[in-house]
Amino acid sequence: MMKKKLLKHIVFLFILLTFGGCVNEMDMIDHEQNFDPDIELFVLPDPIKAIFEFDKSINNIYDRSNILSHIEFLYSNRKTRKLLIFLMESGIRINFYKFPAGSESKNEAQCKPSFIITEIGFNGSNHITFENLLHELLHLYAYLNYKTYTDGYYAACEEYEVRVLTDLIMSRDFKGLVFEYQGMKSVSGDSIYSDYQEWLKTLINAYNYNSNLIVRKFQMYGVFCITNFLDFSDKENKFSLQITDFNHYTPLLLKVFWQGF
Ligand SMILES: [Zn+2]
Repeated sequence: MMKKKLLKHIVFLFILLTFGGCVNEMDMIDHEQNFDPDIELFVLPDPIKAIFEFDKSINNIYDRSNILSHIEFLYSNRKTRKLLIFLMESGIRINFYKFPAGSESKNEAQCKPSFIITEIGFNGSNHITFENLLHELLHLYAYLNYKTYTDGYYAACEEYEVRVLTDLIMSRDFKGLVFEYQGMKSVSGDSIYSDYQEWLKTLINAYNYNSNLIVRKFQMYGVFCITNFLDFSDKENKFSLQITDFNHYTPLLLKVFWQGF
């Protein structure tokens, strides 16, 4: 009799636990749906960590951990993780440094790509931002993949592609982050800034690569951005930004956005 009662209790407890378990699981699923399914939390694997080294000009723990947390965040998203894995598989190394104090450079960051050791520098701690790091890594990707960019031709197109691609990735994959658009700045009394953002939305919603959506506006916004906001030159220096580069523009780097980056 005692045994029967005990058994009844156990069965009841079992049902309760199972039911309770289900409720918890449902809660968890519901809870998880609040997160971007493309973002997973991972500790940076050692082979990825091993790509990066720090120059002694970045000697404080704050700057170094800031850079590492940006890399970790890039790795946490399935799409940008591909970029890091690609860099790792290319066998390249990246050395981070900081511009010397009092640097007159107008650049917030810069990349000197190389098949051996790439130098990525930041113009002060406040410019060690997630979008600046992404921008410089995309330059490195362009350098490793496209001969015209490796050789330094069409510098204006490369620079503007990197800017647009950074804005596209930031807008699509890192929605919660506040960032400064790189492909256009707000100009008072001009709608070009909001037009540019609308164009980004159109590109994000285009599931397939479509050069018709890209080329003409890329040329228009690119020429506007470079002449108004960047150092450009019409001199015969292949490394300088020249607006005539846009006359022969073929999307190279932007394709990677639809190829899974
Ligand atoms: Zn750049």
